[in-house]
Amino acid sequence: MSIAGQVIRCKAAVAWEAGKPLFVKEIEVAPPQKNEVRVKIHFTSLCHTDVYFWEAKGQNPLFPRILGHEAGGVVESVGKGVIDVQPGDHVLPIFTGECKECPHCLSEASNMCDLLRINTERGGMLHDGHTRFSKDGKPIYHFLGTSTFSKYTVVHVGQVAKINPEAPLDKVCVLSCEMSTGFGATVNVAKPKKGGFVAVFGLGAVGLAAAEGARVCEASRIIGIDLNPNRSEEDRFILIDIYIKHSKIAKKFGCTEFVNLKDHNKPVQELIAEMTGGGVDCSIECTGSTQAMVSAFECVHDGWGVAVLVGVPSRDDSFKTHPIHFLNERTLRGTFFGNYKPRSDIPGVVEKYMKKELELDKFITHSVPLLDINKAFEYMLRGEGLRCMIRMDASGTTWINSTTLFYLPFTPYVE
Ligand code: NAD
Ligand code: ZN
Repeated sequence: MSIAGQVIRCKAAVAWEAGKPLFVKEIEVAPPQKNEVRVKIHFTSLCHTDVYFWEAKGQNPLFPRILGHEAGGVVESVGKGVIDVQPGDHVLPIFTGECKECPHCLSEASNMCDLLRINTERGGMLHDGHTRFSKDGKPIYHFLGTSTFSKYTVVHVGQVAKINPEAPLDKVCVLSCEMSTGFGATVNVAKPKKGGFVAVFGLGAVGLAAAEGARVCEASRIIGIDLNPNRSEEDRFILIDIYIKHSKIAKKFGCTEFVNLKDHNKPVQELIAEMTGGGVDCSIECTGSTQAMVSAFECVHDGWGVAVLVGVPSRDDSFKTHPIHFLNERTLRGTFFGNYKPRSDIPGVVEKYMKKELELDKFITHSVPLLDINKAFEYMLRGEGLRCMIRMDASGTTWINSTTLFYLPFTPYVE
């Protein structure tokens, strides 16, 4: 029986207050309006951006809100004016859109759509400013236009990528955000040549996705750089260090060498120049640290080196580098969502996964049913693993991907 045009009652994980556990409750989801699509979410994963807005530090808090922006689902119904997708289509909702009409969408170079570019402040839908979610008549705000921590969500049609229905949604959903960001930064912007040398600063999910991009481009040396800010992180990176040098498992992440900043007293750009005979061909910065941004720029080879900034800096940050580095023919670039246009390009990235040209499974380290969504937040806050998959329909238990167990700290967390 079709439920199109009706209000749906379904379970959603609602953030009622900053930093407090989410409540999984039954809510109401209104039908899609003009240029909107209602999507049944099958899988969603947790990203740092969700945690950042849940903590609401240094921003205007907007609660109650349904977070979530990395997901895969199936279109349930569509609003007026929607012709690109229809009920039954498999889609990835994406936090930044593509209207296909503005100067950015019409330019081959840009993915910064005027209409649907990421907007973290907006809590309602673009069409009328209202929310489609409520609980007992009280509105619940949207997040990034996606709000995927709900079994049903309403999204602007410009923010859904229609993908191959054969693609496993529990894997390709990670292409909605960080995986495409890091991978695209390498393959679309840095563009290393076969046999080239690449440096990746910051080995979180984005940096490891950038390393995966370098592996796919057949770079011959991929140098991963990170630091150990605290004890549990130190354990984690000692493990990465050991594994990146010695283990077949970590080699899957593409890095051929690992530099732990804490092991060296000299600036990392000098170290990399020594290691590579003058610098790498390209570097990708995935930290948000301005110090790493400067190092990433200054460690590329003069004459041809390209550095790409991906990390998001703090509001008042600035950095300093000597202009001679530009005169010596180094290039500095930045990118948003890996330079991908969500509707036009992401279906093709899904195809790369289907053809086994791109690996995603290794990024998924945990899985929980929707009822246990707060566990996913705990894993991320403790720095455990990379991606925790949240299963919207399944009951079942929590599992940890045994091939990526090395990513856990030495000491198990004790409640
Ligand atoms: P993460 O916190 O999991 O990983 C960042 C890593 O950088 C950590 O391992 C940390 O130890 C390391 N690091 C910090 N300072 C460093 C330094 N000076 N040198 C070397 N390593 C350092 O984060 P993530 O989820 O992988 O995201 C990485 C960055 O990408 C964040 O800033 C995030 O906001 C940004 N991001 C950008 C876009 C975009 O479109 N441009 C999209 C998503 C995320
Ligand atoms: Zn546009």
